[in-house]
Amino acid sequence: TETLHIVGGGMAGSEAAWQAAEAGVAVVLHEMRPQIGTFAHQTGNFGEMVCSNSFRSDDDEQNAVGLLHWEMRRAGGLIMATADAHRLPAGGALAVDREPFAEAVTQTLRSHPNITTDHGEITDLPTEGKWIFATGPLTSARLGEAIARETGADRLAFFDAIAPIVYAESIDMDVAWLQSRYDKGETEEEQKAYLNCPMTKPQYEAFIDALLAADKTEFHEGETAGYFDGCLPIEVMAERGRETLRHGPMKPIGLTNAHRPADKPYAVVQLRRDNKLGTLYNIVGFQTKMKYGAQADVFRMIPGLENARFARLGGIHRNTFLNSPTLLDHEMRLKSRPHIRFAGQVTGVEGYVESAAMGLLAGRLAAAEILGRRLPPVPPETAMGALVTHITGGAEAKTFQPMNVNFGLFPPLEGLRGGRKGRKERYKGYTDRAKALWSDWLAAPEAVTA
Ligand code: FAD
Repeated sequence: TETLHIVGGGMAGSEAAWQAAEAGVAVVLHEMRPQIGTFAHQTGNFGEMVCSNSFRSDDDEQNAVGLLHWEMRRAGGLIMATADAHRLPAGGALAVDREPFAEAVTQTLRSHPNITTDHGEITDLPTEGKWIFATGPLTSARLGEAIARETGADRLAFFDAIAPIVYAESIDMDVAWLQSRYDKGETEEEQKAYLNCPMTKPQYEAFIDALLAADKTEFHEGETAGYFDGCLPIEVMAERGRETLRHGPMKPIGLTNAHRPADKPYAVVQLRRDNKLGTLYNIVGFQTKMKYGAQADVFRMIPGLENARFARLGGIHRNTFLNSPTLLDHEMRLKSRPHIRFAGQVTGVEGYVESAAMGLLAGRLAAAEILGRRLPPVPPETAMGALVTHITGGAEAKTFQPMNVNFGLFPPLEGLRGGRKGRKERYKGYTDRAKALWSDWLAAPEAVTA
């Protein structure tokens, strides 16, 4: 059978190699470290954790990332099994002893009879063979250029500029209203793609004060040479002048408060629908380097968002990622070169666990293809399916930014109570449904295609 080449021995590439090798496929795992480093990696090991040592919540009944842990364990995932073996006490979170973890991942992959490792940089997209590119947020510059040549420069980002994302159900619609600026948009749906939160002058002034005072994070050394146009953090805009935001993302023009048409808002915060399901909204233009704790406090000062819950907080990072909703098919293949898959953070997921998960899926899909089989589509009600569905089509392509797994990506459950009270029951409903469907998916017979 054909050999599978995997580029990048990080979270995603390591898991992909393991899954394909376990399926019986010969794998060559290409990794540029230690010959060529990145500003974040320290070693030549596979599966190196570049920053925190946490896999986040391990609660598989109330938390979407905990559910993803469960699904990966169920699929015999290497990253999860190794994390479990090197677990550190951390309450409900899965914290990992990073060095023995990466050493064990490296050892396991090196000693697998179906895996060969090759230390060297891949600088081009190959024209033949079966490949998975899992080169991560710090994809080497030469490969980044080659990818951009293939996809078009506007479809490959080198930084993310993440605005916070709010669960639609947690927005107070007695205060906020649906309207696009100047009622722009062809269809009624487009006109309703925006939610608006009005501010009075005192509210605006207090908001600017809070922005200026909030704790901020710094870029890592070597991460950036500076900001880039159009993506300034809101606190930097506020530093340039107290009125800057009111003339930028918070301008009140072209909008009428549906609840109180006579009141002209002094400023307006706009939220834009972030997924086709309509369960998530991002705060337009609110990319930020504020610390997470400060963000929640500051953003809850916005009228209508007092009780907002965040699917994702904002950030700006060095992060190479594809516009996957336009570039990848539902099996994570590059549409223009279907013999190449992408996996991990470079596909626009965010986090160790999400990256490993996309590696797991890509490894299985590629192995099945090489073995002449076809896997059924992953149910979008599973954490794995919700994530891959989001990046390969569910997300709005125009505003696509990296995503953590969260319940806002899941198709809603019918017949359950909304609001705070119903949340526990709802999340349990999501996780129960996901576990049953994921188990079925893993057990499903593979159709033979060749
Ligand atoms: P990686 O784990 O980075 O693996 C990609 C691999 O590809 C690397 O080993 C790299 O050396 C190799 N490679 C790149 N280009 C080439 C090439 N041309 N040829 C051969 N090999 C190549 N996530 C969290 O959950 N928690 C955190 O605390 C966290 N902190 C982060 C801090 C920083 C500074 C960065 C950049 C990211 C952070 N992330 C964090 C996000 C992300 O989840 C991790 O980066 C995760 O490791 C991504 O997994 P991956 O497999 O996609 O990429």
